[in-house]
Amino acid sequence: MSKFWSPIVSTLKPYVPGEQPRMANLVKLNTNESPYPPSEKAIEAIRAAAGADLRLYPDPVALGLREAIAARYGVSAGEVFVGNGSDEVLAHAFAALLKHDDPLLYPDISYSFYPTYAGLFGIDAVEVPLDAAFRIGIADYRRPAGAIILPNPNAPTGIGLPLAEIEALVARHPDQPVVIDEAYIDFGGESATALVPKYDNLLVVQTFSKSRALAGLRVGFAIGQRPLIEALERVKDSFNSYPLGRAAQAGATAAIKDEAWFEATRGKIIASRARLTAELERRGFEVLPSQANFVFARHPGHAGQTLAARLREHAVIVRHFAKPRIADFMRITIGTDEECGRLIAALDAIL
Ligand code: PMP
Repeated sequence: MSKFWSPIVSTLKPYVPGEQPRMANLVKLNTNESPYPPSEKAIEAIRAAAGADLRLYPDPVALGLREAIAARYGVSAGEVFVGNGSDEVLAHAFAALLKHDDPLLYPDISYSFYPTYAGLFGIDAVEVPLDAAFRIGIADYRRPAGAIILPNPNAPTGIGLPLAEIEALVARHPDQPVVIDEAYIDFGGESATALVPKYDNLLVVQTFSKSRALAGLRVGFAIGQRPLIEALERVKDSFNSYPLGRAAQAGATAAIKDEAWFEATRGKIIASRARLTAELERRGFEVLPSQANFVFARHPGHAGQTLAARLREHAVIVRHFAKPRIADFMRITIGTDEECGRLIAALDAIL
């Protein structure tokens, strides 16, 4: 606290990102990055962009990238918004779309940036509890809402909702924006992008950080009908008219076009997830059914925090959350098979 701080700053509860430790030979399974390098075509495009043209501002509306994303998802470029990571896209959505008369609804166990943004933008929020099986029950969202946001699959549980349930939720709230955060959709979920032509209240947010292995480039996007996208554009142009640099635009454009890399890489991660789940279950863990590039697991005989601390002694970093209902769990990013093997070997030494 300082006398220079505004009242808003004094009350902010900033998001705490997973750590990026600088230890050698670390198995880093704590922030849901891809264990594989990005598409070679994306790296080439970034190299090509790193030249004399950097003296020039980038395209402020990133048209080439938006066209490439639009072609991939069967929409028009006007229905695509891009930003500096989906965190920034989400921030713009909070600022642009969330009405202040009724509260914003989101799951009580979910992405912890949502309460941070609600605080930043002064939006009342109601957290809707997950059911006993840690699932999002869409019937629980039948209550006055200014807007709804939920991740599908949810984080950190990894549990996905079928598209029919997302559609029922969107259809039931025709006067409220419903934001579906699909950061992890490509690892087995059903994307709601297909519903965008049908529903003017639906905004789908995705990222290049996970299934495209470009967390370091910071590119995310939203797909929705024109009026919602226009709202995001108004916020963006009131905040930073050049959110994406030349390298980010070039790299993401090449990445979204590299379907062969995408299919092969997500396939490897999905297969490793099945193997890791089986190995954990064999050792007595309960593993929630995951459609994401991580698993959420707990052991009946060992507290999550203790296990995470012991794993760290073996140079394996996983994520633990202090929230009481999920404090038993560890969230483990799917690594390469070699990394998953080191995790299992460390657990065998600990358990
Ligand atoms: N949504 C969810 C549910 C996430 O877990 C993350 C990653 N922390 C993001 C959005 C943001 O990802 P990025 O800003 O890298 O696109």
